[in-house]
Amino acid sequence: MDGRGASRRARGRGAARAVAVAVTLAALSSNCVRSSAAPGSSGEQESSPPAASKETPAEELEDEPAPAAAVEIGGARFTVIYDGRAPVPEASIEDWIRRSATLIAEYYSGDFPVPDLEITITPSRRSGVGFGQHWDGKWLRITVGEGTTPQDFERDWVMVHEMLHACFPDLERRHRWMQEGLSTYLEPIARARGGNVSDAWVWSKWVRMMHNGRPGFGDRGLDRTHTWGRVYWGGALFWLMVDLEIRQQSKGAAGLEHALRGIVAAGGNGRVTWSTDKVIELGDAATKTTALRDVYTRMADAPGDVELDALWARLGVLPQEDGTVEFNDDAPLAAVRQAMTRAPDAGA
Ligand SMILES: [Zn+2]
Repeated sequence: MDGRGASRRARGRGAARAVAVAVTLAALSSNCVRSSAAPGSSGEQESSPPAASKETPAEELEDEPAPAAAVEIGGARFTVIYDGRAPVPEASIEDWIRRSATLIAEYYSGDFPVPDLEITITPSRRSGVGFGQHWDGKWLRITVGEGTTPQDFERDWVMVHEMLHACFPDLERRHRWMQEGLSTYLEPIARARGGNVSDAWVWSKWVRMMHNGRPGFGDRGLDRTHTWGRVYWGGALFWLMVDLEIRQQSKGAAGLEHALRGIVAAGGNGRVTWSTDKVIELGDAATKTTALRDVYTRMADAPGDVELDALWARLGVLPQEDGTVEFNDDAPLAAVRQAMTRAPDAGA
């Protein structure tokens, strides 16, 4: 379990807790670091994760940590810790956590997949939500600039992305594309289902970004090609294909959410390290399909390219000149497309 034991030992030291966690986080390699939207842009600009995490030096954190606040959502407790003072009113941070956690709990049929998360907010001079990191299904750390507005929090994707990491098992390093891809794929889906963004916004983003995940010349599959494009967007494309495959094989009876709920029900969240085989077997058992196995064989062990223009046409997604999309509800997979971003019926 490498450095994870150290993270766990950092717990339970009373007043020094936030300090200990911050120091430990700086020492470990991060699972996920991405920068947020460029101010004023209509969408997000995902950038390559920096090689090293940008942490506040430990000596700056030796003061007594700010008192922690707690938010309860979906049966889980979210504790907020500030590195120094809060960059914006604490109520804005708590609303942001509440909204993000609710989107995810709803995707997972009401319960948030881990019992608690400790979220450290690091202030920065740059306005907006910045870097996010996740560890072990227990800790998140996100940078927030002074001057970040309620609208910035409303549009933010980083908190949802990082929280989603806490909901899926840790995998061996060469399969990390599966973890990053899942957060990248599910973040807009969870937001669309909860009414935070429109379906058209989700599909226009995918039309714009998903091509980054296609294999280049000489690619040997997602398990062996660890570029930024393949890890984040190749991983997202993998989960998009899994979601489609489940819906087609089950004739609409199940979707990716059912596979993920099955994995969580068996104890598969960010606090455990699993094999991909275990993830695949439990996910496929939950949907009574072979979708995960089939897509994994196609895309992880081999390049498994996806002809995106043809896929958009089958789904009834019609890219427009201005970057938006129109929908064709008579397309062969239009109903599948609608089911993906639609809030599931109660009990589904
Ligand atoms: Zn990530």
